[in-house]
Amino acid sequence: MAIDRTFAATANHAVLDVKDLRIEFPGRQGALVAIEGVSFAIGKGEILGVVGESGAGKSLTGSALIGLLQAPGRIAAGTIHLSGERIDNLSQQEQRRIRGKRIGAIFQDPLTSLDPLFTVGRQLTETIRTHLPVSAGEAHAKAIHLLKEVGIADPENRFNQYPHQFSGGMRQRIVIALALAGEPELIIADEPTTALDVSIQAQIIGLLKRLAKTRGTAIMLVTHDMGVIAEIADRVAVMYAGRVVEIGPVEEVVRRARHPYTAGLMGSIPSLNRRLGRLAQIDGSMPRLGNWPSGCPFHPRCPNAGPRCTESTPALTDAGGTLAACFLHQGGTDL
Ligand code: SF4
Repeated sequence: MAIDRTFAATANHAVLDVKDLRIEFPGRQGALVAIEGVSFAIGKGEILGVVGESGAGKSLTGSALIGLLQAPGRIAAGTIHLSGERIDNLSQQEQRRIRGKRIGAIFQDPLTSLDPLFTVGRQLTETIRTHLPVSAGEAHAKAIHLLKEVGIADPENRFNQYPHQFSGGMRQRIVIALALAGEPELIIADEPTTALDVSIQAQIIGLLKRLAKTRGTAIMLVTHDMGVIAEIADRVAVMYAGRVVEIGPVEEVVRRARHPYTAGLMGSIPSLNRRLGRLAQIDGSMPRLGNWPSGCPFHPRCPNAGPRCTESTPALTDAGGTLAACFLHQGGTDL
């Protein structure tokens, strides 16, 4: 697929550069393609929001990047480079080495990342010593520093406490500290605020934003929430049925979505939606894996669909401000 990379201008100096990624699940009746032709790049200190409904392929893409694709899923085509080094073809052992050290991960539920039997201090110092050549004393000092950096008050005392002694928001801060422990170039945050109260969500979003800017960490933020994206992302990739259907700077995508699916997703930001006069509803639901419609995969739900949309699949092309995979920006839908 020919992609104008203007909107991934950082690609040449990218921390993460994904090109034409395809993920398949082999089956008796042939392979099910779950991700097709996905390309994007993230620069130093940049936050790329990856948004879409459940089943769009966002988390699957994130799993592939950290080498945690569950069997029998496999990368069938494409490349993934981390700071210029190809990482999609590494052995499992090599991928484990990169995970935690060069790529940090934050998931929705902090409890899945924390061990209830050990103090947060011990978990932090062990993670630091796994990834960095430091003494026990240096690891201790670094752990205290990390706790302070993610906004844990009284870190010297909190160091000796167990995960259950922290609130949900504080636990997610500790998970962020753990993700930072190996001083990673890239953090993959998969729905990091979904399980939290709205006021705590805002704090965690603020923290991630600050870390990207002060540390220069590249962040891929996976979420179904356009509101979170509008708050934090520099650029946005919108996924539908295993493809990127629109990608561009956040202000372009949020304020003037070119793709009808993105326009529908805008309904999840009520104030913006009112101002822009868009309809909040997208009728129907995301097709299931193995049931992708022919042509443009969005055509059964698209209010603008024409004959052309059922026959061929639009490529991601320049839509004036973003790249969009939609015939509306390629000469019309009824050709
Ligand atoms: Fe809708 Fe057609 Fe554009 Fe697909 S290509 S989003 S069906 S108008």
